[in-house]
Amino acid sequence: MAEDPIGPMGGGCLCGAVRFTATPAKLEMDVCHCGMCRKWSGGVFMCVPCGTDVAVEDGASLKSFASSQWGERVFCGNCGTSLFWRMQDGSATMVSLHAFDDGTPFRFAEEIFIDEKPGLYAFANDTRKLTGAQVMAAFASGQGS
Ligand SMILES: [Zn+2]
Ligand SMILES: [Zn+2]
Repeated sequence: MAEDPIGPMGGGCLCGAVRFTATPAKLEMDVCHCGMCRKWSGGVFMCVPCGTDVAVEDGASLKSFASSQWGERVFCGNCGTSLFWRMQDGSATMVSLHAFDDGTPFRFAEEIFIDEKPGLYAFANDTRKLTGAQVMAAFASGQGS
């Protein structure tokens, strides 16, 4: 199904030290309920898959933390804003929805690691829901988002 191409979208951190431009694959937002994402983001990680199309204008304030053997969390070392989850080899980047200057065009499409979601909250949106095992299986077969 052909869709209009999505242009580069700007974003940045709370203090303004980090600015970036990213081109999302789709105007879709995913939520990750895993324990690491909740700890790191202070909520759930609402993110937009942007592949390799992320360009940081000034990386001087960027810091990263390797949270697994393959992934890393990228944040502003000055204000602490959670910015990206990305593959350490640079092959994929998930950009925080709230880091974009305008997050309103996105549709809430998918919830992952739904089996790690605490029982005290639930989203009312009609989304695709994947367990951690389903995510890892898709990841292993190269179809992960
Ligand atoms: Zn900052
Ligand atoms: Zn997660």
